[in-house]
Amino acid sequence: MPSLEAYSLEQIKKLEQSGRLRRLPGALPAGMVSFGSNDYLGLSQHPAVIAAAQAAAGQYGAGAGASRLVCGDYPLLSQLEAKLAEAYGAESAMVFGSGYLTSIGVIPALVGKGDLILADKLIHACMLDGAALSNAKLKRFRHNDVAHLKSLLAEHRPQYRQVLVLTESIFSMDGDAAPEAEIAALCTAHDAWLLVDRAHQLDTRATKTAITMGTLSKAYGSYGGFVAGSAALVQYLRTAARSAMFTTALPPAAVGAALKALEIAKAEAWRAEKAIENAYCFSNKFQNSSIVPHVVGSNEAALALSAKLRKAGFFVPAIRPPTVPEGTARLRFSFTALQEMHHIKEVIACLKS
Ligand SMILES: *Cc1c(COP(=O)(O)O)cnc(C)c1O
Repeated sequence: MPSLEAYSLEQIKKLEQSGRLRRLPGALPAGMVSFGSNDYLGLSQHPAVIAAAQAAAGQYGAGAGASRLVCGDYPLLSQLEAKLAEAYGAESAMVFGSGYLTSIGVIPALVGKGDLILADKLIHACMLDGAALSNAKLKRFRHNDVAHLKSLLAEHRPQYRQVLVLTESIFSMDGDAAPEAEIAALCTAHDAWLLVDRAHQLDTRATKTAITMGTLSKAYGSYGGFVAGSAALVQYLRTAARSAMFTTALPPAAVGAALKALEIAKAEAWRAEKAIENAYCFSNKFQNSSIVPHVVGSNEAALALSAKLRKAGFFVPAIRPPTVPEGTARLRFSFTALQEMHHIKEVIACLKS
């Protein structure tokens, strides 16, 4: 057998033995109620968003044809950036191919060898990949532990040129919120920069001192990512963020859809409110997010529970390491504006049965 095939099969076997092999689940069968989507506001299927995608493709074509710095720039991109900056209260914004590409472009543009990154223990993989690409020294602070971050800053800040702190406003697998104001104040006091990933934040409130990154692929129902901050930062990133410079600009349909989605999200605040209310009805715990984890522990137990719910007509993904820490495999319930109260009551009953 050629060595590449042998290697691949060997790796598959290892992943399978540790319960980590992922399989494509295929499209959900018709009628299945999903608690797995990040389409929190229900905008990916909104007729006006789809029409905007079609109109943008009709006017500008199916693809951008080149990187923006070459000749892939078209007016919708700057229009979207202006709207994002306005929405997040920033001077300027810059669009990327995805949230992932935003992270791996922005972080290495800001820090490198001789710099320090202090990252919350639970940050998303895309920020860890950005940190690795940057070659800065990476240290982690305990999840949402401001005192731990403070002690790390006090101990290590003096030895490094720049320090970048990484966190998420709403954590993707736990649904809890970072103590952002306290972290921002600490960063200001220690002259550290703060990058906050707002991929799962349903409102657009943002700390003035933080650099915001986010995605167009979740609440906005389209595809793409963005960073928002000062005009100087964005101007610098245009010729420093390699994941934007050396890649083709977003396709017009995605940008047209995101522009319309941003408009609807703002005009129809009930969408975000309903998603959060649905999460509250399920968890009975007030939180400002639409994500509720149901931690089971072992990979096998999480997969079994997910399969049981699926049989009853509910899709709830089992999330396993390395997405979450070892021993905390879980069902991740995500709530959207389009779920009905009876769906939530039924899934609770099924979970208890
Ligand atoms: C999904 C996600 C991203 C990546 O966004 P994409 O646009 O899907 O690439 C980044 N950060 C967090 C916290 C996410 O959950």
